[in-house]
Amino acid sequence: MSAIYNFSAGPATLPTEVLQQAKDEMLDWNGSGMCVMEMSHRGKEFVSIAEQAEADLRELMSISNDYAVLFLQGGASSQFAMVPLNLLNGKSSAAYTNTGQWSKKAIAEAKRYCDVNVVANSEAENFSTIPDESSWADFKDAAYLHYTPNETIGGLEFASIPETGGIPLVADMSSTILSKPIDISRFGIIYAGAQKNIGPAGITVVIAKKDLIGNACKETPAMLNYQTQLKGGSMYNTPPTYSWYIAGLVFQWLKKQGGLSGMAEINQRKAGKLYDAIDQSSFYNNPVDKRYRSLMNVPFTLANADLDATFLSMASERGLKTLKGHRSVGGMRASIYNAMPEAGVDALINFMEDFEKEKA
Ligand SMILES: *Cc1c(COP(=O)(O)O)cnc(C)c1O
Repeated sequence: MSAIYNFSAGPATLPTEVLQQAKDEMLDWNGSGMCVMEMSHRGKEFVSIAEQAEADLRELMSISNDYAVLFLQGGASSQFAMVPLNLLNGKSSAAYTNTGQWSKKAIAEAKRYCDVNVVANSEAENFSTIPDESSWADFKDAAYLHYTPNETIGGLEFASIPETGGIPLVADMSSTILSKPIDISRFGIIYAGAQKNIGPAGITVVIAKKDLIGNACKETPAMLNYQTQLKGGSMYNTPPTYSWYIAGLVFQWLKKQGGLSGMAEINQRKAGKLYDAIDQSSFYNNPVDKRYRSLMNVPFTLANADLDATFLSMASERGLKTLKGHRSVGGMRASIYNAMPEAGVDALINFMEDFEKEKA
C-alpha cells in the first residue's frame, strides 16, 4: 500500500499510530483474549477503557469537576435537539448566530422547540465573515446562546469566544474540538461529533456544566436527557464501545504530541502555510475574511472552475485524496485536522504549485 493523505472533512483521517495500535490489539486487548468490540460495556475491561478515555480528555482540555463529560450517540445533529430540550427550562427563546450551513441546521431544529433569536447573521455575505459582536442583537431573555466556533463547510472560524453576560454559552465544536486549548469555564455546553477530530463516527462528546443538567422539559425522551446519561455514566443503553475505545487512543496520542498547546502550534503552522500558498497565487482563492479563516477546513477555488475535475484527478494520482469541496460551495476543500501530518500539507502545496505552473 502506498501512503496517501486523506483531506476528508469527516469521517476524517486518523493518526496512523492509533490505527496501528488498534490493529495490534484487534484480536486480544491487553491479554483479555477479546476484541474490544466483543466486550460487555459493563465488564471491567471496557469500563477501564471508558474511564481512561474520560480522564485523558479531562486532562487534555483541563475540564473541571463542575462539568460532566458524556459519550453519547446520534452525532452533533442530535445535539441540535438535545440542547433546547434540556436547556430551555421554561424559557421561550434561545439565541443563535447564523454563520454557515451547520448553524442553519442547528437553528432549524431549535425552531421546533422555541423562538429562535438570530443575533448575528452572515448569510448575506455568503457566510464569508462573522458579524462584529458589537453589532449583535440583544439576547438577555434567551435561555442560552448557541454558536458554531468552526463552520466546517465554509471554513469560517470565530477568532474569540462570544461574551454572553452570564447566559449559558453552547458551542458546536464538531470540527475544532482538541485543535487548540480553550477556557472551558466560558461554556455551558460543548458538543462534538467524533468523526472530525476525535475518532470514528458513532460517538458524540458532550461537555456540560453540571448545574445546567436536570431541567429537561418533561416530554424529553430518556435517551435525549442529559440527566439520564449522566446518571447512567453514558451507559443508559449500550454505548458505541469501539468508537469510544478509538477515541481514547486518539486522546493518548494527543498527549504524546504535547497536548493541545502542542497541537495548536502545529495547526497554526499547517494552516498558515496553506493560506500563504493560496494568497501568493492568483490562480487559487479563498473567499473567507482573513480574520476568521478556519485552521481546520481550508476551502479554495481555482481561477478556472473548468479545471476542477482535472485538479482532483491529478491530486488523487499523487496520493492527495478527498479534496472536493462541499456540494453547496464547490471548488476544493482541504480538511487538515490534528491527524493530518504536516508532510501532507506540504505535499498538497507542492502539488498546487506544480498544477498552477502547468495549467494556469
Ligand atoms: C459534521 C458536523 C456536524 C454534523 O455531525 P453529525 O455527527 O454527522 O451529526 C454538525 N456540526 C458541525 C460543525 C460539523 O462539522
